[in-house]
Amino acid sequence: MEPLLHQVRQRVFHSLHKSLNLLQRNHSGCAEHAAASAPSHSRHIKPTLLVSRIYQPSNLRDVGQESRVAGEMTCKSQRLMQQAGLIHPSNPGCYYYLPATVRSMEKLVRVIDQEMQEIGGQKLDMPSLCSADLWKTSERWDLMGKELFRLKDRHGADYCLGPTHEEAVTTLVAHQATLSYRQLPLLLYQVTRKFRDEPKPKFGLLRGREFYMKDMYSFDVSKEAAYQTYEAVCQAYAKLFARLGLRCVQVQADTGNIGGTLSHEFQLPADIGEDRLLVCGTCSFSANVEMLSSDTTDCPQCKAGTLVESKGIEVGHTFYLGKKYSHIFKASFSNSQNKPTIAEMGCYGLGVTRILAAAIEVMSTEEGIRWPGLIAPYQVCVLPPKKGSKVHEAAVLADELILNLEESLPRLRGEVVLDDRTQMTVGKRLKDASRLGYPYVIIVGQGALEETPSFEVICQQTGETVFLSKDGLLDLLRSVETV
Ligand SMILES: [Zn+2]
Repeated sequence: MEPLLHQVRQRVFHSLHKSLNLLQRNHSGCAEHAAASAPSHSRHIKPTLLVSRIYQPSNLRDVGQESRVAGEMTCKSQRLMQQAGLIHPSNPGCYYYLPATVRSMEKLVRVIDQEMQEIGGQKLDMPSLCSADLWKTSERWDLMGKELFRLKDRHGADYCLGPTHEEAVTTLVAHQATLSYRQLPLLLYQVTRKFRDEPKPKFGLLRGREFYMKDMYSFDVSKEAAYQTYEAVCQAYAKLFARLGLRCVQVQADTGNIGGTLSHEFQLPADIGEDRLLVCGTCSFSANVEMLSSDTTDCPQCKAGTLVESKGIEVGHTFYLGKKYSHIFKASFSNSQNKPTIAEMGCYGLGVTRILAAAIEVMSTEEGIRWPGLIAPYQVCVLPPKKGSKVHEAAVLADELILNLEESLPRLRGEVVLDDRTQMTVGKRLKDASRLGYPYVIIVGQGALEETPSFEVICQQTGETVFLSKDGLLDLLRSVETV
């Protein structure tokens, strides 16, 4: 880290020095004033992030071909993410998440944390290495079949790599002998790696064998209370997707091998989706095709609308579990009469890495990634002119602009990158920026050198290009939400 920091400080110092010279030339006699207002080096300034130093191998080969060799089906999000150096394939269904992806994922997790904690969720972390004993007790050791990654320790004891944690969390709560009704509802969640032995991993992060999931488990005093918790979680999910700017439909679903009686899927409508949905054109009714007989065309809820089929990517799933697991593992609480009572449960999943890939899948163009703005790895990319070009003097103004932005809008600290590959033309770097999908790209060129400086700003989410003064730019970026 140290050499990079040093280099960046040198660079900032160098460019400040150059800009002072420029100021001196423009307003002779004002040098003292300029020196006094220049940021002092004792103050903490976050180093400028240089595109040339970000570990993001740009791989512009046809990844489709490469992946076909490995026998995997590809899709747009996977192709774009591999080309942009966001992910790198390792073994079937497993990927390296490169630094920009981790930045985006950490932001997504922060949004998830906010929404889960808003409804009372408490974050914990459970072992991924799960003892077979628990899974045999719930009978899922056999039910899960080949999907479960199984292994033995040196003593010959059986384990699995957890794909979900109903058994583990219920055992944890059961061991807390003093749980009182006053402590309920209890909502425990984690964001961890999950494992599933997919027969045919495909579509990059959309169907892998190792992935991140948020799983929450609720414990309530009664069925009514459990239904209220269930509803609160569904609303939190709806709010989460709205904050990300993603259209998500909540559909009635089958409970599968998790069990229980009430279940919903959260689906992002998309062409490559593997789930078939029926959505009512009149009311809010929607259901997974599996839930209805195949020839149903009339809506069972409003009786007026017609059901239209659409494909979807499942990004979340909620289940009301009742006492299925709490009964088996004896997860009880003492009720108001001080009598031990079995808790009512629910469980709620969100595919973290899947949301990331699905968002890219539905928002991107064929040529470039578009992110939900809130979780883009970086918000702004600044493009200085090409080295040796007519307007190369504007380069120092790009450095200055970044310092200015980060001083005026502290929220953007660490969110602005400088594309310092000035041996390349602006056009070429702009193409890269479009491929990577920074929400805002600022070109510092001829306009910046004018008496009233202006900057070309490309808003990639909307595709608009505007020319703004520094104040106009600050106004625009003031509305950028970060997390
Ligand atoms: Zn309807």
